[in-house]
Amino acid sequence: MSSSGENESMLDNNALVAAATPVFFALIALELWVARRRRVPAYALADSLASIGCGVWTVTVEVFTKAAAVLLFAFIEQRYALLHFDAGNWLTWVMFFVLLDFLYYWAHRWSHEINFLWGVHSPHHQSEEYNLSTALRQGAFQDTVHMPIFLPLALLGCPVEVFITVLTFSKFYQFWIHTRMIAKVPLIEGILNTPSAHRAHHAVNDIYLDRNYGATLMIWDRLFGTWVDETEPCVYGVRKPFHSWNPVWAQFSWFADVWRDAGRARRPVDRLAIWWRRTGWRPADVVQSDPQAPFVLADVKHFSATRGRKWAVAAVALFVLAAILNNILLTQVSTLSLTLKIALAAGVTLTLVAMAAALQPRAKQGKQAQPVPAAISTSRRET
Ligand SMILES: [Zn+2]
Repeated sequence: MSSSGENESMLDNNALVAAATPVFFALIALELWVARRRRVPAYALADSLASIGCGVWTVTVEVFTKAAAVLLFAFIEQRYALLHFDAGNWLTWVMFFVLLDFLYYWAHRWSHEINFLWGVHSPHHQSEEYNLSTALRQGAFQDTVHMPIFLPLALLGCPVEVFITVLTFSKFYQFWIHTRMIAKVPLIEGILNTPSAHRAHHAVNDIYLDRNYGATLMIWDRLFGTWVDETEPCVYGVRKPFHSWNPVWAQFSWFADVWRDAGRARRPVDRLAIWWRRTGWRPADVVQSDPQAPFVLADVKHFSATRGRKWAVAAVALFVLAAILNNILLTQVSTLSLTLKIALAAGVTLTLVAMAAALQPRAKQGKQAQPVPAAISTSRRET
């Protein structure tokens, strides 16, 4: 049996994330440099602050949620596992990496197809840019909500440290594919996930919608009929434009929309069903009382409005403050009292909201000029 200290260290991936963070930022700097040399406007400051802000808020929230989710996995594995595998054998790691990748495909696919699950995944897709900072734009509640989908691995006997590590490496793999600077990669297109395959996944063009869900392996998309090759220029973002720089609101905005529609539905069954229906589905009476214009790619307006340079400097300062508070929380997590943890998390949250306020243009500067949003992700199979 492991000591409790060893148990604690194997129950989180903070050391892996801490080691990878400087690499992420070095690669972002490299992408920025390559983009400048090619004279491609790959980054927008407000967008990157909002995206990385989503990542900061996600790890803040996970201080409170991840331990419980992982403990549940460990409990099921120890009590109910049908088989047992040795974490010291490399075959265990390879097998569970592939099995996790398979379950990730379905978790990801259902997150696009089901209204409720789209709420936890849509933050990752709201950016209208596509660069390495988009990779850090995470849904704060996604891993927690996805946990039941991964529990079959616990039943199969996946050691919890193997699960956490392969999940973390799956996320790390998905970092480098968020770039426009790499065209197609010879030999691996259609086998492994690539920038080209994932660009199509992030695009709102009709031909790309609900495609390329793979995390590392793309064979699942080939097997289950969701693979598409990148052939036309991608337009990035979501079909119901988010148009906010707020990384905290990003995590709730879809739920707020569905909640509002559910509240206006006349039939009680619709009020419940809307959460589990296909993403973008709305009750017939709500569609009638509040129609939304159909999505037209040519009408998409790129959102880039901010409050200007002076406010951008304030936003950068607030972002740095949020990152510092977040760093204190993560590095001191085992010694801080719950009250102090909550206070620090509240500090991160308020600072990120203030950062967004410093970036967001006044209503008359931009927001009112946006086109009427359409429902997100009406499947190609339905249209
Ligand atoms: Zn996705």
